[in-house]
Amino acid sequence: MLYSSVMKTPWQSGFTRLTCPVCGQEFGIHQKQTFCPKCNSPILAGYDLSGLKKTLDRDEVALRPPGIWRWSELLPVFSPQFRFNLGEGSTPLLNLENLGAEFKTRTLFLKDESFNPTGSFKARGLCVAVSKAAELGITNFVIPTAGNAGGALAAYAALAKLGAHIFMPKDAPRANQLEVEMLGATLHLVDGLITDAAREARSMAAENAWFDVSTFKEPFRAEGKKTMGLELALEFEWQLPDVIIYPTGGGTGLVGMWKAFDELESLGWIDEKRPRMVVVQAEHCAPIVRAFNDKAERAIPWENAQTIASGLRVPVAFADRLILEAVRKSEGIALSVSDEEMIASQKKLAAAQGIFAAPEGAATLAAYEKLTQNHWIHAEEKVVLFNTATGLKYL
Ligand SMILES: [Zn+2]
Repeated sequence: MLYSSVMKTPWQSGFTRLTCPVCGQEFGIHQKQTFCPKCNSPILAGYDLSGLKKTLDRDEVALRPPGIWRWSELLPVFSPQFRFNLGEGSTPLLNLENLGAEFKTRTLFLKDESFNPTGSFKARGLCVAVSKAAELGITNFVIPTAGNAGGALAAYAALAKLGAHIFMPKDAPRANQLEVEMLGATLHLVDGLITDAAREARSMAAENAWFDVSTFKEPFRAEGKKTMGLELALEFEWQLPDVIIYPTGGGTGLVGMWKAFDELESLGWIDEKRPRMVVVQAEHCAPIVRAFNDKAERAIPWENAQTIASGLRVPVAFADRLILEAVRKSEGIALSVSDEEMIASQKKLAAAQGIFAAPEGAATLAAYEKLTQNHWIHAEEKVVLFNTATGLKYL
């Protein structure tokens, strides 16, 4: 079926509310929203799940065309004309048989997000954020990015015929810079880290009334990322895996997947069993790992953040509370790996499986090795690694 045919589907969004998970305040769903100013917390979308439980059939959803919009009832865009589509989602879930043999397991999987438009998982979140913003009449976006989110925003803004201003550290990979320019967005190169890019982006956004689609500064990127969790449930035939290992910068995907699982349980499509959620960060930028080990509710910003994995060079995550809560509730763990371990795992994944992963993706294999060595993961458990982008964007 043609992807464009998604635009003609009758699927109706069940989106009904926006709530701060800290103080419970509700926000209007028909205006543009950012985050809870009182708690400085992300706000999350809610759906009429009890209504959908009566009308929506998981087997019917499974037969729909691939892509994130097959989950339209669980996404916030009301009008099909604003469901912008470049073929995002429905990425392969690969059984890593060659590496599995080495680790004496048959149940090591990799969700390969490099198949998304613009070569990274950022497409999912920005597809939904741009689609919803377009529906609300927003015309110009701004984003600070380590690289991949900028490309994704530029692509969807181009498709939606809207403006995009991308703030990127000067040392971001050249591929990311070229991509943004090619896609017609305005590229602003900034001295320093993504936090410096964010500061500059914020001031320009306020000056020009551009809409800030930074991680969790608006509610809908998490909804797009949620589709990774919905897909995993479908691909494992509604029995979630035992462990998910996720490279965590801003943590949108981890929080989004955790939210997806609760929604699926409310629909009666899965039971209460949850995967143990594993946060992987880089040795020299590991604010969530430190907070997890310190049993803290919030993460302290990391000083002098350094790693080759630009997507993990995030000294402070706006959703730190939500990330830590999901990891703890799931009886998961947070750990860091070194750049050397990432590079070794990147080579191993490439040579053994034919997958040229981003260093962030390779970090999940390095973490898997550590967690099998210390017997936190057992050979019979179903484990999903996430490759978040293609290694080609890091050349
Ligand atoms: Zn609040």
